[in-house]
Amino acid sequence: MVIASALLPPNTARVAASHSHPHTHSGRDSRYWDAALETQSRESWERLKLASLKSHLQHAYLGSPYYRAAWYAAGVHPSQLKTLDDLRRFPFIDKKVVRDRQLAMPPFGDICAVPERDIVYISASSGSTGVPTASPFTQQDFDDWIDYEARQFWSSGLRPEDRYAHSLNFSLFVGGPCVLGAQKLGALSIHAGTLPSDRLLAIIQQFRATAIWTTPSYAWYLGETAIKQGIDPARDLSIRRIFVAGEPGGSIPETRNRIEALWGAAVYDYYGLSDIFGSCAGMCEERNGLHWAEDHIHVEVIDPDSGEPVAEGERGELVLTTLKKAARPMIRFRTGDIVSFTSEPCACGRTSQRMLGVHGRLDDMLIIKGVNVFPSDVEAIARKDRALTGEYRLIVRRVDHLDQLTVQIERTAAEASADADAELAGRFSHQLKSIVGISASVEILPPDTLPRATHKAKRVDDQRQGVWG
Ligand SMILES: [Zn+2]
Repeated sequence: MVIASALLPPNTARVAASHSHPHTHSGRDSRYWDAALETQSRESWERLKLASLKSHLQHAYLGSPYYRAAWYAAGVHPSQLKTLDDLRRFPFIDKKVVRDRQLAMPPFGDICAVPERDIVYISASSGSTGVPTASPFTQQDFDDWIDYEARQFWSSGLRPEDRYAHSLNFSLFVGGPCVLGAQKLGALSIHAGTLPSDRLLAIIQQFRATAIWTTPSYAWYLGETAIKQGIDPARDLSIRRIFVAGEPGGSIPETRNRIEALWGAAVYDYYGLSDIFGSCAGMCEERNGLHWAEDHIHVEVIDPDSGEPVAEGERGELVLTTLKKAARPMIRFRTGDIVSFTSEPCACGRTSQRMLGVHGRLDDMLIIKGVNVFPSDVEAIARKDRALTGEYRLIVRRVDHLDQLTVQIERTAAEASADADAELAGRFSHQLKSIVGISASVEILPPDTLPRATHKAKRVDDQRQGVWG
């Protein structure tokens, strides 16, 4: 559609211009979905992002009563943004603000920057507090998102010949519509949703699915379930690509290796959140970090205490700013996810920055005897040792004012001598000390003792609450 800019009010023209990238598909033999966009120089990326950000801040300011008031209170105005770094003068926003504004101005809150008649889709997420917050999309937001999902699937090697079983929840979950990205790419898209594992396995067999998307825990559980039914996933099924999201496991090499060996398939980690898109970063075929959708999102990684940026490769809290999402712009949204990133060139030729996986949630980080411990660090050790099943549980207690960590792990052997268990425990605690920097008592359990997690796993039992208030 060609719109004569002169006929539109100034802001409308700017917003229309920000969507002007043609999203040209480079053709089925290309390694890239959109080569010009994906392989542009870093300077070109920065120019593109700055132009989008300027018009997006203007849109948020004019359309959202919340941003107008919050920025006025902080003494900032969109016209002050001359470089991407200037964004750091703008205040953060977080899940609590989103929830509070939604409660104050139901149903969608005054962070929204378009009239309700322009909203065509919402996803909802409850977070850890149980009050669902809605994430609204205009038709253009939705189309942009699905176009990006197609590009991301393409970068992970999905092709029109593939049969893709989408096994995420469709009920208000932002991961649901991602299936349309695979469909747009031309793959046969099986809208499976969350089914009992027996039915899902039957569908994978019957339609000879070649790709699937689920959580890392569930990919593991589904593979183990298949084996119990006498099906060897690597030999008897045709799954060659597994997309995972929702837990750190997809970027923990030891966890990925185990799922890959079980399925005879490559595992690609994706990252998304309801407040932005179903996925907004994902692994290319190199599987070395997750490329960001930098035409849609500006990424910051900050020290959660000081709010200042951390250096490349260091862990910090992920802060995301939308560059186009018109229905509800998210400007400096604190995700609570702890990540690290790199801008080193990737062997695939794409020039977007990469996240080196999510190490965990800020809420999940345990401080034990003053040491920051993420369950994902322990998981990496538990998954590496072939004498262990890879399942684990952390129990933290406070005894005589001192933190005590107990790690429960399972051996693979059904029977073992006390000496063998002691040696396994010794090996594990030595690794914990040298890699995570913490001492723990290690309990070896027989296989299948710990509860198996089907979707998001709960592997921490912190009993310290209430001891010191
Ligand atoms: Zn790459």
